[in-house]
Amino acid sequence: MVFILKPDVAKEKIDTFIMGWEQKGFSTILSVGTEHTAVCLIGNTAEIDVDHVVETSDIVSYGKRITEQYKAVNRTVHEDSTVIRVGDARIGEGFFTVISGPCSVESEEQICKIARSVKNSGAKILRGGAFKPRTSPYAFQGKQAEGLAMLRLAKKETGLPIVSEIMNQTQLDLFEDVDILQIGARNMQNFDLLKAVGGLKKPVLLKRGLANTIEELLMSAEYIVAAGNEQVILCERGIRSFETMTRNTLDLSAVVLLKQKSHLPVIADPSHASGIRSLVPPLAKAILAVGADGIMVETHNNPAKALCDGAQSLDLEQFHTLMEDLRKRAAMEDKQL
Ligand code: PEP
Ligand code: MN
Repeated sequence: MVFILKPDVAKEKIDTFIMGWEQKGFSTILSVGTEHTAVCLIGNTAEIDVDHVVETSDIVSYGKRITEQYKAVNRTVHEDSTVIRVGDARIGEGFFTVISGPCSVESEEQICKIARSVKNSGAKILRGGAFKPRTSPYAFQGKQAEGLAMLRLAKKETGLPIVSEIMNQTQLDLFEDVDILQIGARNMQNFDLLKAVGGLKKPVLLKRGLANTIEELLMSAEYIVAAGNEQVILCERGIRSFETMTRNTLDLSAVVLLKQKSHLPVIADPSHASGIRSLVPPLAKAILAVGADGIMVETHNNPAKALCDGAQSLDLEQFHTLMEDLRKRAAMEDKQL
């Protein structure tokens, strides 16, 4: 249930209204937008007579039931698109933010070289995996804490904010200097981790699970936002399908639907969605065309020698060419790249 308040209601009146509901056992979400302020009730709202509330309250303009299970991330509750600020970068409506870097941080030289180059090409955020979730326990597991230190160095050298995947909540201290916490596809429903990052004041990049529905992705985001952290970026990264010629199947409808259903920024990852380098630039353009707020693209200074995901990584020149193309297209879409 969401109540849209009349314009310019005094804060004390809103507080009293909220307290009244909380005393009746409801949780509330207050959403202050540019168009209107809304109060969302969470709990068993079946018995509430909406018309009665509107008639008897002097601050409520109208009320409506929210049928979806997700409330805090729902656009009905929060009409304005959320724009997340990380350093000089913005992620959300009006922007097409490019996050780039290697699948894994491999060495100081590697990450700094890539960071300088992608920054020069126009990437606003540097990615680099330090803890890698690998299918095989015998595969390279990432440089771990040492990798995070190398990533910090690249941040210091270039000024780019950094994003890296956190695999469980015991690693939180290690990620203190990481600007955006990535929750990977395999951890999308690690509810303890979702709750833990919900207690932080730091952006979270939440990737869609390999076989999770759009609604499940929204519910995972709800865990984080309901726990108090509103800075969630949703990421479509391809889902498992019957297709074997691509690593995953990019679900472009998910990008569009997520933007419609939620106020959170939505980006997509053409690298993991396809697994094939030559598909990455065309998919990146498609992602921009359907209205996403950005992309995360894997790049490497020497993809043939990459320790992880080389086949889907663009080399630095290919990335530069892609960015030149995206810049023109972003301007046509009225988005700042
Ligand atoms: C990654 O970004 O390197 C990664 C492991 O992605 P995903 O969780 O989408 O597989
Ligand atoms: Mn990867």
